[in-house]
Amino acid sequence: MDSLANPVPLLRDLIRIDTTNPPGNEVACVRYLTERLAHRDDLDVTVLGPSADRANLIVRFPGRGVAPPLLLHGHSDVVPVTGQDWRHPPFEARLVDGEVWGRGSVDMKGGIAMMLSSLARLHEAGQRPAGDVVLAVVADEEHGSIAGARWLTREHPELFTGIRYAVGEEGGAGIELGGRRFHPIVVAEKRACWLRATLTGPGGHASRQAPAHTAMGRLGHLLTALSGVRLPRHREPAAERMLTELAGHLPEPLAGRLLAVRDDANDAPPAGLPEDQSLQIDSLLRNTVSPTVVRAGDKINVVPGEVTVDLDGRILPGDHSREEFLGELRALIGPDVPLELLVEGFPVDQSRIAEPEFGGFYETLADITRKADPDAAPLPMMSPASTDAGFFAQLGIRCYGWLPLKVPAGSPYRTLLHRADERIPVEALEFGTQCMTALLRDHR
Ligand SMILES: [Zn+2]
Repeated sequence: MDSLANPVPLLRDLIRIDTTNPPGNEVACVRYLTERLAHRDDLDVTVLGPSADRANLIVRFPGRGVAPPLLLHGHSDVVPVTGQDWRHPPFEARLVDGEVWGRGSVDMKGGIAMMLSSLARLHEAGQRPAGDVVLAVVADEEHGSIAGARWLTREHPELFTGIRYAVGEEGGAGIELGGRRFHPIVVAEKRACWLRATLTGPGGHASRQAPAHTAMGRLGHLLTALSGVRLPRHREPAAERMLTELAGHLPEPLAGRLLAVRDDANDAPPAGLPEDQSLQIDSLLRNTVSPTVVRAGDKINVVPGEVTVDLDGRILPGDHSREEFLGELRALIGPDVPLELLVEGFPVDQSRIAEPEFGGFYETLADITRKADPDAAPLPMMSPASTDAGFFAQLGIRCYGWLPLKVPAGSPYRTLLHRADERIPVEALEFGTQCMTALLRDHR
Protein backbone atom coordinates (compact mmCIF):
# COMPACT_ATOMS: atom_id res chain seq x y z
CA MET A 1 0.00 0.00 0.00
CA ASP A 2 1.22 3.50 -0.83
CA SER A 3 2.39 5.74 1.94
CA LEU A 4 -0.11 8.38 3.04
CA ALA A 5 2.66 10.89 2.37
CA ASN A 6 1.82 10.77 -1.34
CA PRO A 7 -1.44 12.67 -1.90
CA VAL A 8 -2.04 11.31 -5.41
CA PRO A 9 -2.95 7.66 -4.70
CA LEU A 10 -4.75 8.80 -1.57
CA LEU A 11 -6.89 11.25 -3.54
CA ARG A 12 -7.61 8.64 -6.21
CA ASP A 13 -8.85 6.21 -3.57
CA LEU A 14 -11.04 8.91 -2.04
CA ILE A 15 -12.61 9.86 -5.39
CA ARG A 16 -13.50 6.21 -6.03
CA ILE A 17 -15.57 6.15 -2.84
CA ASP A 18 -18.82 7.70 -4.06
CA THR A 19 -20.01 10.15 -1.41
CA THR A 20 -22.50 12.02 -3.56
CA ASN A 21 -24.69 14.07 -1.25
CA PRO A 22 -27.57 13.39 -1.03
CA PRO A 23 -27.41 10.75 0.35
CA GLY A 24 -23.75 11.26 1.33
CA ASN A 25 -22.94 7.90 2.94
CA GLU A 26 -19.70 9.45 4.15
CA VAL A 27 -19.13 6.48 6.48
CA ALA A 28 -17.49 4.65 3.54
CA CYS A 29 -14.86 7.37 3.36
CA VAL A 30 -14.42 7.38 7.14
CA ARG A 31 -13.94 3.59 7.18
CA TYR A 32 -11.27 3.83 4.50
CA LEU A 33 -9.37 6.58 6.35
CA THR A 34 -9.65 4.80 9.70
CA GLU A 35 -8.08 1.69 8.16
CA ARG A 36 -5.30 3.73 6.60
CA LEU A 37 -4.49 5.25 10.00
CA ALA A 38 -4.79 2.01 11.96
CA HIS A 39 -1.01 1.45 12.05
CA ARG A 40 -0.52 4.63 14.09
CA ASP A 41 -0.99 3.95 17.80
CA ASP A 42 -0.17 7.56 18.73
CA LEU A 43 -3.42 8.90 17.28
CA ASP A 44 -6.67 9.62 19.00
CA VAL A 45 -9.37 8.57 16.52
CA THR A 46 -13.07 9.38 17.04
CA VAL A 47 -15.89 8.48 14.67
CA LEU A 48 -19.28 10.00 15.35
CA GLY A 49 -22.37 11.29 13.62
CA PRO A 50 -26.13 11.62 13.91
CA SER A 51 -26.63 8.27 12.10
CA ALA A 52 -24.48 5.29 11.13
CA ASP A 53 -24.10 6.33 7.50
CA ARG A 54 -23.36 10.02 8.15
CA ALA A 55 -20.06 9.63 9.97
CA ASN A 56 -17.57 12.33 10.88
CA LEU A 57 -13.94 11.49 11.61
CA ILE A 58 -11.91 13.41 14.17
CA VAL A 59 -8.23 12.48 14.45
CA ARG A 60 -5.92 14.09 16.96
CA PHE A 61 -2.25 14.03 15.94
CA PRO A 62 0.03 14.68 18.91
CA GLY A 63 2.19 17.79 18.93
CA ARG A 64 5.03 18.94 21.14
CA GLY A 65 2.64 20.66 23.51
CA VAL A 66 4.15 24.13 23.08
CA ALA A 67 1.25 25.66 21.10
CA PRO A 68 -2.54 25.37 21.23
CA PRO A 69 -4.07 22.71 18.97
CA LEU A 70 -4.65 23.58 15.32
CA LEU A 71 -7.74 22.48 13.40
CA LEU A 72 -7.64 21.27 9.82
CA HIS A 73 -11.14 20.62 8.49
CA GLY A 74 -12.39 19.17 5.24
CA HIS A 75 -15.64 17.70 3.98
CA SER A 76 -15.83 14.19 2.55
CA ASP A 77 -19.12 14.55 0.66
CA VAL A 78 -19.37 15.75 -2.95
CA VAL A 79 -22.07 17.30 -5.10
CA PRO A 80 -24.01 15.13 -7.60
CA VAL A 81 -22.93 14.68 -11.22
CA THR A 82 -26.51 14.36 -12.48
CA GLY A 83 -27.04 15.89 -15.91
CA GLN A 84 -23.34 16.57 -16.42
CA ASP A 85 -21.38 15.37 -19.41
CA TRP A 86 -17.92 14.21 -18.26
CA ARG A 87 -14.99 13.47 -20.59
CA HIS A 88 -13.69 10.88 -18.10
CA PRO A 89 -15.94 9.04 -15.62
CA PRO A 90 -16.35 11.09 -12.42
CA PHE A 91 -15.71 8.26 -9.92
CA GLU A 92 -12.83 6.37 -11.55
CA ALA A 93 -10.11 8.86 -10.61
CA ARG A 94 -8.24 8.45 -13.87
CA LEU A 95 -4.79 9.94 -14.13
CA VAL A 96 -4.67 11.63 -17.54
CA ASP A 97 -1.80 13.86 -18.70
CA GLY A 98 -0.69 14.70 -15.18
CA GLU A 99 -4.18 15.43 -13.88
CA VAL A 100 -6.38 13.46 -11.48
CA TRP A 101 -9.92 13.52 -12.80
CA GLY A 102 -13.03 13.12 -10.74
CA ARG A 103 -15.76 14.57 -8.59
CA GLY A 104 -14.19 15.98 -5.45
CA SER A 105 -10.67 16.23 -6.89
CA VAL A 106 -10.67 19.92 -5.91
CA ASP A 107 -13.82 20.23 -3.74
CA MET A 108 -12.50 18.89 -1.52
CA LYS A 109 -11.07 15.40 -1.37
CA GLY A 110 -7.96 16.99 -2.86
CA GLY A 111 -7.78 19.20 0.23
CA ILE A 112 -8.24 16.24 2.59
CA ALA A 113 -5.44 14.38 0.76
CA MET A 114 -3.15 17.41 1.15
CA MET A 115 -3.90 17.64 4.87
CA LEU A 116 -3.38 13.93 5.57
CA SER A 117 -0.25 13.69 3.44
CA SER A 118 1.36 16.65 5.17
CA LEU A 119 0.67 15.05 8.56
CA ALA A 120 2.18 11.79 7.29
CA ARG A 121 5.28 13.60 5.96
CA LEU A 122 5.95 15.23 9.28
CA HIS A 123 5.54 11.90 11.05
CA GLU A 124 7.84 10.09 8.60
CA ALA A 125 10.48 12.79 9.14
CA GLY A 126 10.28 12.11 12.88
CA GLN A 127 8.89 15.60 13.53
CA ARG A 128 5.93 16.87 15.49
CA PRO A 129 3.97 20.09 15.11
CA ALA A 130 4.19 22.64 17.94
CA GLY A 131 0.67 21.79 19.12
CA ASP A 132 -1.71 18.92 18.52
CA VAL A 133 -3.35 18.92 15.12
CA VAL A 134 -7.03 18.02 15.03
CA LEU A 135 -8.07 16.76 11.62
CA ALA A 136 -11.85 16.85 11.13
CA VAL A 137 -13.18 15.04 8.07
CA VAL A 138 -16.82 16.05 8.15
CA ALA A 139 -19.98 14.99 6.36
CA ASP A 140 -22.72 16.92 4.64
CA GLU A 141 -21.03 20.23 3.76
CA GLU A 142 -22.67 20.31 0.36
CA HIS A 143 -26.18 19.92 1.74
CA GLY A 144 -26.43 22.22 4.74
CA SER A 145 -23.89 20.58 7.10
CA ILE A 146 -26.79 19.25 9.19
CA ALA A 147 -25.06 15.88 9.76
CA GLY A 148 -21.56 17.40 9.67
CA ALA A 149 -20.06 20.60 11.06
CA ARG A 150 -23.39 21.93 12.35
CA TRP A 151 -24.05 18.72 14.30
CA LEU A 152 -20.46 18.33 15.53
CA THR A 153 -20.08 21.87 16.82
CA ARG A 154 -23.46 21.71 18.58
CA GLU A 155 -23.29 18.21 20.02
CA HIS A 156 -19.55 17.83 20.62
CA PRO A 157 -17.90 21.22 21.06
CA GLU A 158 -15.52 19.57 23.56
CA LEU A 159 -13.66 17.98 20.64
CA PHE A 160 -12.45 21.46 19.68
CA THR A 161 -11.54 22.85 23.09
CA GLY A 162 -8.51 25.12 23.13
CA ILE A 163 -8.25 25.44 19.35
CA ARG A 164 -7.45 28.98 18.23
CA TYR A 165 -6.94 28.67 14.50
CA ALA A 166 -8.45 26.56 11.75
CA VAL A 167 -7.67 25.96 8.11
CA GLY A 168 -10.29 24.78 5.65
CA GLU A 169 -11.38 25.18 2.05
CA GLU A 170 -11.45 28.50 0.27
CA GLY A 171 -14.93 27.80 -1.10
CA GLY A 172 -14.13 28.82 -4.67
CA ALA A 173 -13.12 32.33 -3.60
CA GLY A 174 -10.09 32.44 -5.90
CA ILE A 175 -9.72 35.26 -8.36
CA GLU A 176 -7.49 35.96 -11.35
CA LEU A 177 -7.06 39.40 -12.76
CA GLY A 178 -4.73 40.97 -15.29
CA GLY A 179 -2.92 37.68 -15.88
CA ARG A 180 -1.63 37.76 -12.29
CA ARG A 181 -1.85 34.70 -10.07
CA PHE A 182 -3.04 34.98 -6.49
CA HIS A 183 -3.18 32.55 -3.61
CA PRO A 184 -6.41 33.23 -1.76
CA ILE A 185 -6.44 33.29 2.01
CA VAL A 186 -10.09 33.64 2.94
CA VAL A 187 -10.44 35.82 6.03
CA ALA A 188 -14.15 36.56 5.79
CA GLU A 189 -17.21 34.87 4.36
CA LYS A 190 -20.67 36.10 3.57
CA ARG A 191 -23.46 34.04 5.05
CA ALA A 192 -26.58 32.60 3.54
CA CYS A 193 -30.03 33.95 4.32
CA TRP A 194 -32.40 31.78 2.33
CA LEU A 195 -35.99 32.92 2.12
CA ARG A 196 -39.26 31.76 0.59
CA ALA A 197 -41.72 34.31 -0.74
CA THR A 198 -45.33 33.17 -1.03
CA LEU A 199 -47.57 34.94 -3.52
CA THR A 200 -51.31 34.33 -3.48
CA GLY A 201 -54.23 35.48 -5.58
CA PRO A 202 -57.46 34.34 -7.16
CA GLY A 203 -57.19 30.98 -8.90
CA GLY A 204 -59.62 29.20 -11.12
CA HIS A 205 -60.29 27.92 -14.60
CA ALA A 206 -57.77 29.26 -17.07
CA SER A 207 -60.26 29.47 -19.91
CA ARG A 208 -61.61 32.75 -18.54
CA GLN A 209 -60.12 36.22 -18.53
CA ALA A 210 -58.00 36.30 -15.35
CA PRO A 211 -58.68 38.98 -12.72
CA ALA A 212 -55.94 41.37 -11.69
CA HIS A 213 -53.49 40.32 -8.96
CA THR A 214 -53.27 36.62 -9.62
CA ALA A 215 -50.35 34.86 -7.97
CA MET A 216 -48.72 34.64 -11.42
CA GLY A 217 -49.15 38.38 -11.93
CA ARG A 218 -47.53 39.03 -8.56
CA LEU A 219 -44.72 36.67 -9.54
CA GLY A 220 -44.03 38.84 -12.57
CA HIS A 221 -43.80 41.94 -10.38
CA LEU A 222 -41.55 40.22 -7.86
CA LEU A 223 -39.08 38.93 -10.43
CA THR A 224 -39.03 42.29 -12.22
CA ALA A 225 -38.34 44.05 -8.92
CA LEU A 226 -35.34 41.77 -8.29
CA SER A 227 -33.89 41.71 -11.80
CA GLY A 228 -30.71 43.62 -12.48
CA VAL A 229 -30.92 45.55 -9.19
CA ARG A 230 -28.20 45.96 -6.59
CA LEU A 231 -28.79 46.37 -2.87
CA PRO A 232 -27.10 49.32 -1.09
CA ARG A 233 -23.32 49.39 -0.86
CA HIS A 234 -21.61 48.82 2.51
CA ARG A 235 -18.01 49.31 3.53
CA GLU A 236 -16.47 46.21 5.07
CA PRO A 237 -12.85 46.10 6.30
CA ALA A 238 -12.26 42.67 4.75
CA ALA A 239 -13.45 43.77 1.31
CA GLU A 240 -11.50 47.04 1.51
CA ARG A 241 -8.33 45.23 2.44
CA MET A 242 -8.80 42.74 -0.37
CA LEU A 243 -9.36 45.45 -2.97
CA THR A 244 -6.39 47.51 -1.78
CA GLU A 245 -4.01 44.52 -1.89
CA LEU A 246 -5.40 43.33 -5.20
CA ALA A 247 -4.90 46.77 -6.75
CA GLY A 248 -1.37 46.90 -5.33
CA HIS A 249 -0.40 43.90 -7.43
CA LEU A 250 -2.00 45.05 -10.65
CA PRO A 251 -0.96 47.55 -13.33
CA GLU A 252 -2.92 50.61 -14.35
CA PRO A 253 -5.61 51.12 -15.46
CA LEU A 254 -6.82 47.95 -13.70
CA ALA A 255 -5.61 49.07 -10.28
CA GLY A 256 -7.35 52.43 -10.55
CA ARG A 257 -10.60 50.84 -11.61
CA LEU A 258 -10.56 48.55 -8.59
CA LEU A 259 -9.81 51.35 -6.18
CA ALA A 260 -12.53 53.49 -7.76
CA VAL A 261 -15.23 51.21 -6.35
CA ARG A 262 -14.25 52.33 -2.85
CA ASP A 263 -15.23 55.86 -3.78
CA ASP A 264 -18.56 56.68 -2.14
CA ALA A 265 -19.65 58.85 -5.04
CA ASN A 266 -19.21 55.99 -7.47
CA ASP A 267 -21.49 53.04 -6.84
CA ALA A 268 -20.95 51.16 -10.09
CA PRO A 269 -19.43 47.69 -10.51
CA PRO A 270 -15.73 47.91 -11.40
CA ALA A 271 -15.46 48.87 -15.06
CA GLY A 272 -13.31 47.31 -17.74
CA LEU A 273 -13.12 43.87 -16.09
CA PRO A 274 -14.50 40.60 -17.41
CA GLU A 275 -18.13 40.48 -16.29
CA ASP A 276 -17.81 37.53 -13.89
CA GLN A 277 -14.93 39.17 -12.03
CA SER A 278 -16.67 42.52 -11.96
CA LEU A 279 -19.75 40.86 -10.47
CA GLN A 280 -17.69 38.86 -7.96
CA ILE A 281 -16.11 42.05 -6.64
CA ASP A 282 -19.44 43.88 -6.65
CA SER A 283 -20.90 41.05 -4.54
CA LEU A 284 -18.37 41.79 -1.79
CA LEU A 285 -19.62 45.34 -1.39
CA ARG A 286 -23.27 44.59 -0.69
CA ASN A 287 -25.81 42.02 0.41
CA THR A 288 -27.24 40.15 -2.55
CA VAL A 289 -30.44 38.29 -3.38
CA SER A 290 -31.16 35.93 -6.26
CA PRO A 291 -34.49 34.24 -7.01
CA THR A 292 -33.64 30.62 -7.80
CA VAL A 293 -36.66 28.31 -7.46
CA VAL A 294 -40.23 29.01 -8.55
CA ARG A 295 -43.07 26.64 -7.67
CA ALA A 296 -46.32 27.42 -9.42
CA GLY A 297 -49.13 25.49 -11.09
CA ASP A 298 -48.79 22.09 -12.70
CA LYS A 299 -51.87 22.08 -14.94
CA ILE A 300 -52.16 24.21 -18.04
CA ASN A 301 -55.84 24.98 -17.58
CA VAL A 302 -55.74 26.00 -13.91
CA VAL A 303 -54.68 29.46 -12.69
CA PRO A 304 -52.64 28.70 -9.53
CA GLY A 305 -53.81 30.36 -6.35
CA GLU A 306 -50.32 30.24 -4.88
CA VAL A 307 -46.80 30.61 -6.20
CA THR A 308 -43.64 30.37 -4.11
CA VAL A 309 -40.25 31.80 -4.95
CA ASP A 310 -37.09 30.77 -3.13
CA LEU A 311 -34.59 33.57 -2.71
CA ASP A 312 -30.88 32.96 -2.16
CA GLY A 313 -29.87 35.90 -0.01
CA ARG A 314 -26.28 36.51 1.09
CA ILE A 315 -25.40 38.84 3.96
CA LEU A 316 -22.06 40.58 4.43
CA PRO A 317 -19.95 39.60 7.46
CA GLY A 318 -19.27 42.10 10.21
CA ASP A 319 -22.18 44.00 11.75
CA HIS A 320 -24.65 43.25 9.01
CA SER A 321 -27.86 41.77 10.30
CA ARG A 322 -30.73 39.85 8.82
CA GLU A 323 -32.98 42.80 9.71
CA GLU A 324 -30.85 45.15 7.65
CA PHE A 325 -30.94 42.73 4.70
CA LEU A 326 -34.71 42.26 4.97
CA GLY A 327 -35.17 46.03 5.05
CA GLU A 328 -33.16 46.36 1.84
CA LEU A 329 -35.17 43.58 0.24
CA ARG A 330 -38.50 45.07 1.36
CA ALA A 331 -37.52 48.38 -0.22
CA LEU A 332 -37.53 46.52 -3.54
CA ILE A 333 -40.46 44.13 -3.20
CA GLY A 334 -42.75 46.09 -0.89
CA PRO A 335 -44.13 45.30 2.57
CA ASP A 336 -46.85 42.83 1.65
CA VAL A 337 -45.12 39.72 0.29
CA PRO A 338 -44.95 37.11 3.09
CA LEU A 339 -41.34 35.95 3.56
CA GLU A 340 -40.37 32.79 5.41
CA LEU A 341 -36.81 32.26 6.65
CA LEU A 342 -35.50 28.89 5.44
CA VAL A 343 -31.82 28.96 6.46
CA GLU A 344 -29.48 31.48 8.00
CA GLY A 345 -25.74 30.81 8.20
CA PHE A 346 -23.07 32.12 10.53
CA PRO A 347 -20.60 34.87 9.67
CA VAL A 348 -16.84 34.44 9.47
CA ASP A 349 -14.82 37.60 9.85
CA GLN A 350 -11.13 37.81 10.73
CA SER A 351 -10.96 41.50 9.97
CA ARG A 352 -12.63 42.38 13.24
CA ILE A 353 -10.64 40.28 15.65
CA ALA A 354 -9.19 42.08 18.62
CA GLU A 355 -5.55 41.20 17.95
CA PRO A 356 -3.54 42.66 15.07
CA GLU A 357 -5.91 42.37 12.18
CA PHE A 358 -3.78 40.35 9.83
CA GLY A 359 -0.80 39.52 11.98
CA GLY A 360 0.38 36.20 13.31
CA PHE A 361 -1.38 33.29 11.76
CA TYR A 362 -2.38 35.11 8.60
CA GLU A 363 1.22 36.17 8.04
CA THR A 364 2.41 32.58 8.52
CA LEU A 365 0.07 31.44 5.75
CA ALA A 366 1.05 34.35 3.49
CA ASP A 367 4.78 33.78 4.05
CA ILE A 368 4.52 30.11 3.18
CA THR A 369 2.83 30.84 -0.14
CA ARG A 370 5.24 33.71 -0.93
CA LYS A 371 8.24 31.43 -0.45
CA ALA A 372 6.69 28.49 -2.29
CA ASP A 373 5.53 30.55 -5.28
CA PRO A 374 7.37 33.89 -5.49
CA ASP A 375 5.65 34.84 -8.76
CA ALA A 376 2.19 34.81 -7.21
CA ALA A 377 0.81 36.94 -4.41
CA PRO A 378 -1.09 35.84 -1.30
CA LEU A 379 -4.39 37.69 -1.15
CA PRO A 380 -6.67 38.21 1.87
CA MET A 381 -10.14 37.56 0.54
CA MET A 382 -13.75 37.77 1.41
CA SER A 383 -15.68 34.88 -0.09
CA PRO A 384 -19.16 35.59 -1.47
CA ALA A 385 -20.06 32.00 -0.55
CA SER A 386 -19.89 30.17 2.77
CA THR A 387 -18.21 27.01 3.98
CA ASP A 388 -18.15 25.02 7.23
CA ALA A 389 -15.88 27.74 8.66
CA GLY A 390 -18.97 29.56 9.98
CA PHE A 391 -19.79 26.69 12.34
CA PHE A 392 -16.25 26.45 13.73
CA ALA A 393 -16.10 30.24 14.05
CA GLN A 394 -19.10 29.93 16.41
CA LEU A 395 -16.77 28.13 18.83
CA GLY A 396 -14.44 31.14 18.87
CA ILE A 397 -11.98 29.56 16.41
CA ARG A 398 -10.41 31.88 13.84
CA CYS A 399 -10.99 30.21 10.53
CA TYR A 400 -9.01 30.72 7.36
CA GLY A 401 -9.75 29.34 3.90
CA TRP A 402 -6.40 28.20 2.60
CA LEU A 403 -5.78 25.31 0.25
CA PRO A 404 -2.93 26.55 -1.93
CA LEU A 405 -2.90 25.25 -5.49
CA LYS A 406 -0.26 26.30 -7.98
CA VAL A 407 -2.09 26.36 -11.29
CA PRO A 408 -1.27 28.36 -14.41
CA ALA A 409 -2.99 31.72 -14.97
CA GLY A 410 -6.12 31.27 -17.05
CA SER A 411 -6.42 27.55 -16.19
CA PRO A 412 -9.93 26.22 -15.52
CA TYR A 413 -9.35 24.28 -12.30
CA ARG A 414 -10.91 26.64 -9.81
CA THR A 415 -13.98 27.17 -11.97
CA LEU A 416 -14.71 23.45 -12.26
CA LEU A 417 -16.07 23.12 -8.73
CA HIS A 418 -19.50 21.48 -8.86
CA ARG A 419 -19.23 21.16 -12.67
CA ALA A 420 -18.31 18.46 -15.18
CA ASP A 421 -14.63 17.56 -15.71
CA GLU A 422 -13.50 18.60 -12.21
CA ARG A 423 -9.81 17.69 -12.02
CA ILE A 424 -6.57 18.68 -10.37
CA PRO A 425 -2.99 18.65 -11.66
CA VAL A 426 -0.69 16.32 -9.74
CA GLU A 427 1.76 19.23 -9.45
CA ALA A 428 -0.85 21.44 -7.81
CA LEU A 429 -1.62 18.70 -5.30
CA GLU A 430 2.07 18.34 -4.49
CA PHE A 431 2.44 22.11 -4.14
CA GLY A 432 -0.47 22.28 -1.70
CA THR A 433 0.91 19.37 0.32
CA GLN A 434 4.28 21.10 0.61
CA CYS A 435 2.62 24.32 1.78
CA MET A 436 0.50 22.44 4.30
CA THR A 437 3.61 20.59 5.58
CA ALA A 438 5.35 23.97 5.98
CA LEU A 439 2.39 25.21 8.02
CA LEU A 440 2.64 22.23 10.39
CA ARG A 441 6.36 22.93 10.77
CA ASP A 442 6.22 26.74 10.98
CA HIS A 443 3.09 27.39 13.04
CA ARG A 444 3.87 28.06 16.66
ZN1 LIG B 1 -16.33 22.33 -0.72
